[in-house]
Amino acid sequence: MNLFPKSVKSLMNDFNRRVKNGKNGFQDFDEFLKWYNNQIKECYYCGLKEKESQILVTNILKSNRFPKKGISGRGTSRGMHLEVDRINPEGKYSKENCVLCCYFCNNDKSDVFYGDKYKEFSKDRVGFLRKLIKELSKQKDVEDE
Ligand SMILES: [Zn+2]
Repeated sequence: MNLFPKSVKSLMNDFNRRVKNGKNGFQDFDEFLKWYNNQIKECYYCGLKEKESQILVTNILKSNRFPKKGISGRGTSRGMHLEVDRINPEGKYSKENCVLCCYFCNNDKSDVFYGDKYKEFSKDRVGFLRKLIKELSKQKDVEDE
């Protein structure tokens, strides 16, 4: 199976949307494109390769967000390409703050986890969550003293 790279047109549409929303931190589209082209096409969080994601969403897994019969259209192209993700969601899209992320991790992170916190969470989900509770109760103990 061939890899379908994300088109420059589509990258530019995404870039222009971020500019419009005031979220762009790249100098210009050329700087963004250069950054994008230099990225290894695998998920920063789980390591899934773009090609593997394309195989999954066109041949194996089903969702209304995935391409229909292997053809991606408006609203049905999730999973076809790695997504540009901000490590710190409050920061702008910039060289320093962006990584490529698979659909599965991006969807799973939601707006709850980000950056290395999500990496930690995904390694041991319940362990990570219980650690958060433990940290809170330690804080409470200190406050109660
Ligand atoms: Zn991933």
